[in-house]
Amino acid sequence: MTDTRLPSPIASTVPFDRDGVHHGFLRLPYSRDDSAWGSIMIPLTVVRNGDGPTALLTGGNHGDEYEGPIVLFDLARTLAAEHVRGRVIIVPAMNYPAFQAATRTSPIDRGNMNRTFPGRPDGTVTEKIADYFQRTLLPMADIVLDFHSGGRTLDFIPFAAAHVLPDKAQEERSFAAVAAFGAPYALRMVEIDARGMYDSAAEEMGKIFVTTELGGGGTSSARTVSIARRGVLNVLRHAGIVPGPVEAAPTQWLDMPGDDSFLFAEQAGLLEPCVDLQAAVAAGQVLARIHTMDRTGAAPVELRARRDGILIARHFPGLVKPGDCVAVIGVPA
Ligand SMILES: [Zn+2]
Repeated sequence: MTDTRLPSPIASTVPFDRDGVHHGFLRLPYSRDDSAWGSIMIPLTVVRNGDGPTALLTGGNHGDEYEGPIVLFDLARTLAAEHVRGRVIIVPAMNYPAFQAATRTSPIDRGNMNRTFPGRPDGTVTEKIADYFQRTLLPMADIVLDFHSGGRTLDFIPFAAAHVLPDKAQEERSFAAVAAFGAPYALRMVEIDARGMYDSAAEEMGKIFVTTELGGGGTSSARTVSIARRGVLNVLRHAGIVPGPVEAAPTQWLDMPGDDSFLFAEQAGLLEPCVDLQAAVAAGQVLARIHTMDRTGAAPVELRARRDGILIARHFPGLVKPGDCVAVIGVPA
């Protein structure tokens, strides 16, 4: 991360400092069997109108999460420069190879974008993308909004979130942006493992960082897309980049106090959900049962809540393996 490092191999085909709407690509050279001297072309839009704050908007950090790409491709197409004060940088599908393959991680190097920061200019494809965000795009930004959902293996209640941070002033500005987003739920988030995250990279630079989990299951819904669409405009209004008042929406704040919020499977089997998302749960309550698939006559294993709260996330597919995250509990603030 020092200035003695190699330059990024990624080049933008559009300018970042000229007024107007510029549609182009981040071009990442990637020579391979089907394209000698070829490149990966990551779609990018820059909308700028004079001086002002910069918002960096990303989807597709994980390739199988869809609300972000849907609303950001749409916003890139429709946002006019005269409706902006400052700059909006839109990358609808950050880990573009993963997005094309509809997988969480990159099919090229199995890279999980959100575990790859700060990346490397001379690393894998995923590391090169992370490095470009780390050293080129994040430093330009004042406010960063990164869309996530559960992907193929998790499903979430729709929430926007920011992290509990050591700098309380930065934390307060981040939670104010989360409130502006206006999702049905807002989470004061604690990560199970924050190393390598885009979130941490932005927060360590002092940026306001808002993330979301809007749904999941490897698809989207009319409801979650509408939440995302209102949320991105609200964040831009809150930042003073797009004119007009934030469109208020009722939000329930939640805390995620720690390890006892998470339940993980310890055996493989057939997953029986015993409560659905948004349900109030009590410590000791059975949230799911795992039935053995090997034989009849065996009792299922019960997974019990370790604290009171509401169910904010659940494993989505019908089968589980040891280590799969089965349930996450949030606590109404
Ligand atoms: Zn994600």
